[in-house]
Amino acid sequence: MKIIEIFETMEYSPAPESPDLALEWLKEHKSKFGFFINGKWCKAKSGKVFSTNNPANGKKLASISEAGKSDVDSAVSAAKLAFPKWKALSGHERARYLYALARQLQKHSRLFAVLETMDNGKTIRETRDIDIPLVIRHFYHHAGWAQLLESEFPEHMAIGPVGQIIPWNFPLLMLSWKVAPALAAGNTVVLKPAEYTPLTALLFAEICSQVGLPPGVFNLVTGPGQTGSLMVNHPDLKKIAFTGSTDVGRLIREATADTDKKLTLELGGKSPFIIFQDADLDSAIEGLVDAIWFNQGQVCCAGSRLLVQESVAEKVIDRLKKRMAKLRVGDPLDKSMDMGAIIAPIQKERIQNLVDQGKKEGAAIWQWEGELPQNAEKKGDGCYFPPTLFTNVSPASIIAQTEIFGPVLVSMTFRTPDEAVMLANNSAYGLAASVWSENINQALHVAPKLKAGVVWINCTNQFDASVGFGGYRESGYGREGGHEGMFEYLKPKESGISKNQIRISVTKVKASATTALSLDRTAKLYIGGKQARPDSGYSLDVVNADGSLAGEIGDGNRKDIRNAVEAAHKASGWQSSTPHLRAQILYFLAENLETRSLEFKNRITQLTGVTEKQAALEVKTAVSRIFTYAALADKHEGLIHQPPMRGLALALNEPIGVLGLVCPDEAPLLSMLSMLLPAIAMGNSVVLVPSRPFALVATDFYQVLETSDVPSGVVNIVTGDSAKLGTVLAKHDDVAGLWVAGTRTECTEACKLSTGNMKIIWTNNGKQLDWYDNQQSEGREWMRRASQVKNVWIPYGE
Ligand code: NDP
Repeated sequence: MKIIEIFETMEYSPAPESPDLALEWLKEHKSKFGFFINGKWCKAKSGKVFSTNNPANGKKLASISEAGKSDVDSAVSAAKLAFPKWKALSGHERARYLYALARQLQKHSRLFAVLETMDNGKTIRETRDIDIPLVIRHFYHHAGWAQLLESEFPEHMAIGPVGQIIPWNFPLLMLSWKVAPALAAGNTVVLKPAEYTPLTALLFAEICSQVGLPPGVFNLVTGPGQTGSLMVNHPDLKKIAFTGSTDVGRLIREATADTDKKLTLELGGKSPFIIFQDADLDSAIEGLVDAIWFNQGQVCCAGSRLLVQESVAEKVIDRLKKRMAKLRVGDPLDKSMDMGAIIAPIQKERIQNLVDQGKKEGAAIWQWEGELPQNAEKKGDGCYFPPTLFTNVSPASIIAQTEIFGPVLVSMTFRTPDEAVMLANNSAYGLAASVWSENINQALHVAPKLKAGVVWINCTNQFDASVGFGGYRESGYGREGGHEGMFEYLKPKESGISKNQIRISVTKVKASATTALSLDRTAKLYIGGKQARPDSGYSLDVVNADGSLAGEIGDGNRKDIRNAVEAAHKASGWQSSTPHLRAQILYFLAENLETRSLEFKNRITQLTGVTEKQAALEVKTAVSRIFTYAALADKHEGLIHQPPMRGLALALNEPIGVLGLVCPDEAPLLSMLSMLLPAIAMGNSVVLVPSRPFALVATDFYQVLETSDVPSGVVNIVTGDSAKLGTVLAKHDDVAGLWVAGTRTECTEACKLSTGNMKIIWTNNGKQLDWYDNQQSEGREWMRRASQVKNVWIPYGE
């Protein structure tokens, strides 16, 4: 063809990438793979195998061993055995291994890219230019964290052997997001890749051998969900890091509820892509192509909900259709393809069902009309799905709410920025969002209002090892990458038990029969800045340590919690108040508590039976703790990342929202404040359930709140049976986070019952904390618990 003709037709010639080296690698292994355990290759004890296929043509690539219980046990034992030595290495020694892995990955990058494309069906353009370079960057970046571990995280230590379960959509990238930080922090790993895509993980295991990674530090088992479940339930794995569907995330949360396992869950999404009328529309449309047709839309953070300002909607949809018509769908090994194959026929079927549902719901469909490649077996259209656009979509419809996980975009319109935010947040998920506007003030005004862990301004699907990634709400919790991601693989160093720790017997809740109150005073609940009678109309006795009646408290119930949650939501202005304002109010709170220290000292002495000296120490420590959080309120700041692009990513520490706090009995004032203060210093509003036997300390405290200018609804106190009220908080879907310092059973229940909206949960796992010990009970670790990081990406330049 002549150049002039090429200019006229603008046709692409085939540009195939050769699969030869990858096929040779498979042949070297006779297309059969076992597990990589303790630095050696071994087969499944059961002898069971399954196949992994090429989605582009349906052909079998290899036989993979299926791990059963004894295989998982062997892998975990190897990781457990290797842990003490690996942890004991210096940061520098671990950094050298991570650096060696990065180098080795770099040297074999094309083999990894081709193999990934063959196993997953995504285009070589993506694996070569996005997945594998990001994988390499991850190992380099985390070699850095390993080197700096002791100086950057002096108060933290490795967790132990960790279990990691990853999906099929970014097989090697997800491996690197999990393995690199885990090893850098000094943990050892058992990893299970998805059944559909184990090959690059197997090649990675070979690389671990080549660089001489000590045996047992990285172990790989392959198998179906059942293998993952065996890992989740293994008592010797101290953490589970999971990426996948929200449903499986829920199962994992329930299965680990009665254990001490740390958990990070990176789940699904239905991310909004917002185009304002002043956006550079051509750029926004190119952005959309990357947002929803990248990896065939099988991306947890895909910009799958287009929200476009009404004034430009017609223009945008029109240009979008023209652009869609030019997309190239076909052989993923062809370097000029935009879209490759869908992972498996069952996934294609799922996409088709949801598309049919959309049509039934009355949305208008527009589909790419090119010819889809056939499978090798010539069955139907092969495992490909055409780029699809729905307009006239109602915000509540199934296709607007369900994660389709395919190349399907649904679009809606809005009139004002507030409406855009409302529509964007109208989802159970909260993984990512993309905002397009040439008015940076407007974009930066909208970004903090979006319930999403990542916000891309005038860009989309940007990732980097230095920038944390993770969701809000049902998109899960925990972050991967960056400074914040390292904390997910570390735990605070244990401090010695302080001698001030007081254990109190709290079984006595009935007053001796004849004691009477000198003054008839029933402490009410405290909701929305006002004292409120309990809905039940019942009161409960509170007794002093000597058995006399100290007073009565309201017996709060489900309705009181509901009212308190509503009041807490109304106080959302607290979230956007300046940290300086919050600090000032906290200092004032300290001043007012100190003024009444004698009264609190007496109350604590009478109720708990501790000495006056001990009670005075509790009040004094509480005042000091308020000072700590007043100090931290304007110092728990975010970071500015400089990822390898022309731009910045702002890591903002944001409050979680409405937090439920279930407080323990010991040191009732100090423990209650130790939980309350970081929560409100960070800008959360709370529903607090105080200790049942010592609730009068909390009801006395609301008078201090009232005099300290804490806005109405920021702190709500519901007294009563704490276990029962904790259960109500756990089930409440408008409570975003829950902290429970209770018995083991209460903590387990809270974890299990709060999976509905995937609350961010912290519990003491039934262990008694020492509330006097600053290392355990105050400081940045608590501020971290009270916040979630949102990364806002801002490119610059023309
Ligand atoms: P799953 O959540 O089922 O799988 C993710 C990983 O978990 C895989 O390794 C899987 O194994 C494993 N697994 C499955 N069941 C269990 C279990 N009970 N206990 C422990 N591990 C388990 O996702 P799918 O791959 O099946 O995809 C289904 C849907 O999930 C998609 O349509 C999409 O909506 C969502 N998804 C979201 C992703 C994200 O990045 N957020 C990524 C992938 C999927 P195996 O593959 O062998 O079954």
